[in-house]
Amino acid sequence: MASVLFYCLTFKMPLQFAVMEKDVDVNKVVRQHVKMDEFFTGGFAARGKATPAARQQQDNSAAVDAARELEKIADEVRQCRKCDLGSLRTNAVPGEGNPNARIFFIGEGPGADEDAQGRPFVGRAGKLLDKVIAAMGIKRSDVFIGNILKCRPPENRDPRADEIINCFPYLQRQIEIINPEVIVALGAPAARTLLNTNKPIGQLRGQFHEYYAGLGRAPIKLMATYHTAYLLRNYSQENRRRVWEDMKKVLDELGLPIPEHGKK
Ligand code: URA
Repeated sequence: MASVLFYCLTFKMPLQFAVMEKDVDVNKVVRQHVKMDEFFTGGFAARGKATPAARQQQDNSAAVDAARELEKIADEVRQCRKCDLGSLRTNAVPGEGNPNARIFFIGEGPGADEDAQGRPFVGRAGKLLDKVIAAMGIKRSDVFIGNILKCRPPENRDPRADEIINCFPYLQRQIEIINPEVIVALGAPAARTLLNTNKPIGQLRGQFHEYYAGLGRAPIKLMATYHTAYLLRNYSQENRRRVWEDMKKVLDELGLPIPEHGKK
């Protein structure tokens, strides 16, 4: 029941719906709902007779709106005092990247370097993440990068449940605005929080899961993989191969070419 309550709180879902979730596949219901919606609207917005130039203009103005919404969330994060971490931080780290990103990388929480700069993944683990992204044949500026927690826990300890409950709604809103095609959860705390499970990362990684993005929204594909900080501590050929295998699946899912050289 505790986990059902946690689910309701974090996903702002009525309790009876979460209880019902035990008996039905919620994601399947959502997919059917979205399909039905498209059937009745005939996908007018998507299939209208807009010229390529008009479509480009629509895309540009959607990106401007998304960037504005994301900046609003970032401002709220910078002023947030919902938990003790707010008074311990040097800088909050709201996250950064392309408001139209197809991939959203999500880590655990800022470390010392991120706290000092107010930017995600800029320390050693971040440099390795940059290498992973480059090996995928894409740029850091193509993706969005964020964390479960927006402020650094002291001594980089694991996020506490109350901190996650307070902070998670910021990330949920960011995901909703960006609406990526794939989420990459880096490490156990990110994967477990996003998937509402206690399974070990070794069991979660390597296959696609579904992130439940809210009523009326299609679930988002989620790939869990090892955190780059873990990879630095356990820099074996095998672990690097596993992360690369996971990223190849992400590229494949997005229909992107898989670079030959990307072995890091
Ligand atoms: N580790 C994380 O989980 N996030 C960061 O931003 C940096 C390191």
